Amino acid sequence: MSEEPLRPTNPDLFEGLKAALGEQAVSVSGAERHLHSQDESTYPAVVPDLVVWPQSTDDVVQIVTLAAEHGEPITGWGAASSSEGHAIPVKHGIVVDFARMNRILAVHAEDFQATVQPGVLRLDLEKHLSQYGLFFAPDPGANASVGGMIANNAAGIRAHKYGATRSNVLALEVVLANGEVIKTGSRSVKQSSGYDLTRLIIGSEGTLGLVTEATLKLHPVPQHFATAVVGFGTVAGAAQAAYGIIGAGLAPAALEILHQNHIRYMNEDDGSDWPVLPSLMIEFTGSSDVATGDALDEARLICEDAGAESFTSGLGHQDRSEMWTMRHGARYRYRRRAPGYVWSAIDVSVPISHMPQIIAYAEKCATDLGLPGEVLGHAGDGNIHMGIGYDPGDADEKQRAGELSRMIIEKALELEGTASGEHGIGLGKRKYMVAEHGAPAIDVMRAIKKALDPQNLLNPDKVLPDPLV
Ligand SMILES: Cc1cc2nc3c(=O)[nH]c(=O)nc-3n(C[C@H](O)[C@H](O)[C@H](O)COP(=O)(O)OP(=O)(O)OC[C@H]3O[C@@H](n4cnc5c(N)ncnc54)[C@H](O)[C@@H]3O)c2cc1C
Repeated sequence: MSEEPLRPTNPDLFEGLKAALGEQAVSVSGAERHLHSQDESTYPAVVPDLVVWPQSTDDVVQIVTLAAEHGEPITGWGAASSSEGHAIPVKHGIVVDFARMNRILAVHAEDFQATVQPGVLRLDLEKHLSQYGLFFAPDPGANASVGGMIANNAAGIRAHKYGATRSNVLALEVVLANGEVIKTGSRSVKQSSGYDLTRLIIGSEGTLGLVTEATLKLHPVPQHFATAVVGFGTVAGAAQAAYGIIGAGLAPAALEILHQNHIRYMNEDDGSDWPVLPSLMIEFTGSSDVATGDALDEARLICEDAGAESFTSGLGHQDRSEMWTMRHGARYRYRRRAPGYVWSAIDVSVPISHMPQIIAYAEKCATDLGLPGEVLGHAGDGNIHMGIGYDPGDADEKQRAGELSRMIIEKALELEGTASGEHGIGLGKRKYMVAEHGAPAIDVMRAIKKALDPQNLLNPDKVLPDPLV
C-alpha cells in the first residue's frame, strides 16, 4: 500500500459523479483510495483521486462521460489479483470498482451459457452454476472477477482442455471511451460476422473499453475423473512426459508441472505425503470411469518410459479437490518462506516441443545467477511460471532477479513463444512488446487504441510500449 500523500480530487468531478451515481457510489476517503492503489504485482502503488462503484451500464456511461469532460483517466478494478500492475492507476484519476455489478443476469442452461455482470467473482459463479451441473472453465486460481478475467484473457489449469477466457466468451457489452455502448458477438457458438470485436476487447486490459456484461460459454461439470501425481528425476523429464502425453492424443483436462520444492512445501504446509520429486499433476475427465481410467493407464506407461520414479493415483473426490487447492496456493507458499521479499512471476509460454528446453534453460540461469529456480506451470500449454524473489534492500540481488526475468523472456521469444502466456502485459511486459510483435504490428495496435480512446483515458500506460521505445 502506498504511503504517498493524497492528491486533491477535482471537486467538479467529485460533485458530478455524486449527482449522477449517488453519494454512496463515490469515495474520496484515504482508506478506499489506498485500497485501490495496488494489485498483486511488485510495482509501486499509485493512489487514485477517487473510487466509484457503478451498479449498471448507465452508471458506467455517466462515469466515462464525466471523465472525458474532465480529462480524467479511468482504471477498471475487479479483484486486483493481476500480476503485472494492470490495475494500478498509474495516472491517478478514477478507479471504477465493479464489485457492485456482480449479478448473474441469466443462465441459459439449455444452451450451456450464462450472461453476467463483470463484477461477479469466479467462485460465486461456480457455486451458482453447480445447481445446473455446469461450470465456466477458465480458472486462474485467484478468486478473480469475470471482468478482470476477460480483460486479461486469464487461463489457468484447465486451459489445455477448454481454452483460455477468449475461447469461452460469446458476447460482450462494452462502454467505449466516448460513452457509447456497443454489443459484440452473439449467443451463437459459431460466429463469422464482421471483425471480431469480442476477441479484440478480451485481453485488452481495460485499455479499449469497459466491459459491462458478458455472455459466457459453459461446460457440463465432469462426473468422472482420474487423477495422479507423478514424480520424476528432473523437471525437464516431467516436461518430456507431458509432451509424450499430449503427443499420444490423450487430451488431459489438466497437466501441471511442479519443481520438487513446491511438492515439499505442500507436504510441509498441507499434510500431503507425495514423494519430493519434480512432478506432474495429471487429470483426465470424461463420461465414464473406464474412459478416464484407460487414459490414465496409458499416461502411466508414457511417464514410466520417461523415467517416472513414483506414480500416486486413485485419488477420491476429497483428495483431488485438496490437491488442486494446494496447487493454487503455490504462489503464497514460497512467499511465506521469504518474508520481506518482493516476488515477480515469470509467465512465458513456448511451443510445446520447446517446453523441456525452456525449463532447463530457466533453471540453469537461476542457478548461474544464484537465485532459486522453482518452476511450475501449465505443461499442456507450454506455459511456465517461476517466482523470482529478491530482498528489496539488496541492490545486487534485485539486479540479478531482473536479469533472470529478462533472460527467460528473451529465450521464450527466441523459441517463437511469448512473454506472457496468461498473466498479460500490464506495466511489466511492455518493454518486450516490440521484440515479440514487431514495430509494424505495434503501430496497428497504437492505431486501434487511438481510434477507440483518442484522449488516452482508459487505463493509460498499459499494454502498449512507451511511444519512444
Ligand atoms: C494466486 C494467484 C494465482 C494466479 N494464477 C493465474 C493463473 O493460473 N492463470 C491466469 O491466467 N492468471 C492467474 N493469476 C492472475 C489473475 O488472477 C488474473 O489475471 C485475473 O484475470 C485478474 O482478475 P481480477 O478480477 O483480479 O482483475 P484486476 O486485477 O482487478 O484487473 C485486471 C485488469 O482488468 C481491468 N478490468 C477489470 N474489470 C474490468 C472491466 N469490467 N472492464 C474492463 N477492464 C476491466 C483492470 O483495469 C485491469 O487492467 C493469478 C493471480 C494470483 C493472485
